[in-house]
Amino acid sequence: MGFNEVRKDYLLDRWVVIATERGRRPSDFAKKEGEKRKSGVCPMCPGNEHMTPPAVLVYLKSGKGIKKAKDQDSKRHKNWIIRCVPNLYPAFAPPKDTTPKKIMKNRELALAVGHHEVLIESPNHDEHPADARTSQLTHVINAYIDRLRAISAKPYVKYVSIFRNHGLEAGASLSHAHSQIIATPFMPKTVEEELNASKRLWLRKKRCAICNIIEKERHSPRLILENSHFVVFAPYASVNPMEFWIAPKEHQATLLGMSQKEVETFAKTLKTCLHGLKQLVNDPPYNYGFHLSEDKDTGKYYHWHLEVYPKLAIWAGFEKNTGIYINTITPETAAEDMRKAI
Ligand SMILES: [Zn+2]
Ligand SMILES: [Zn+2]
Ligand SMILES: [Zn+2]
Repeated sequence: MGFNEVRKDYLLDRWVVIATERGRRPSDFAKKEGEKRKSGVCPMCPGNEHMTPPAVLVYLKSGKGIKKAKDQDSKRHKNWIIRCVPNLYPAFAPPKDTTPKKIMKNRELALAVGHHEVLIESPNHDEHPADARTSQLTHVINAYIDRLRAISAKPYVKYVSIFRNHGLEAGASLSHAHSQIIATPFMPKTVEEELNASKRLWLRKKRCAICNIIEKERHSPRLILENSHFVVFAPYASVNPMEFWIAPKEHQATLLGMSQKEVETFAKTLKTCLHGLKQLVNDPPYNYGFHLSEDKDTGKYYHWHLEVYPKLAIWAGFEKNTGIYINTITPETAAEDMRKAI
């Protein structure tokens, strides 16, 4: 028997054991039956708008287009297409004053100042991205962009994380299709590490690290799909079985400069890939999140991408003890089966 491979992440100082010797296929991970979830009144369904705080953004139908609005304190908009509300139990909350004086209390204590919002992706409870109408998913991406623009302009915000939890085991306590947005008053460690590694390459070679990665993976066995604007691939050192990333082919640091054509293509790409994953592994729980840079300087060498992490493995003693992961599906196998599924 040969050795497994230990691979280093493109940018992070993180190592993963790729269990090439196990030869497991994605279908080995398919769930036997659907999870059971408590049913009850859904606070995100139309008619229950009073169960959430007033919306900071709603999309309403207006002729053939969209009208953007907000809820007033007591009055809630009905017949919305997209609805974005503050989280009832925010991890990070906006300051009382517009410019808080002191977020860092001392070197070991900061106040969790920021934003925490829930973006309700559809009035239809089960309209998850894998099966969503492209038009609806396009509204979702546009709403991500609207909230990113509004929140990243706040002086106390250093990073805006846009992410999605799908399925109970991936942390979605409510089954209605929704994403979350959390803005922090400091740069998260993972993004900062990616930024720093990208900067080092930029200083040496005047090249964007992700542009390099895309160029390489487009011609590798880890490519899942490529279209007019995007490349999808299974990262070389994936820590999650079936992990994939979607990145724009043209250098873009953030989502804010996307054209409507690009937004629509992105929605289609995302749907195609999540639908493929759903078919392949029987609707697995997953998380996804964007990595992006809003900063003019770092924007030269940082390149936005969406990272999708299917939750098919349980990280236990070794991973928690050492920070070394073991992935039992090789990224090459993941990509091969994804190409067949989509
Ligand atoms: Zn619902
Ligand atoms: Zn780039
Ligand atoms: Zn990243």
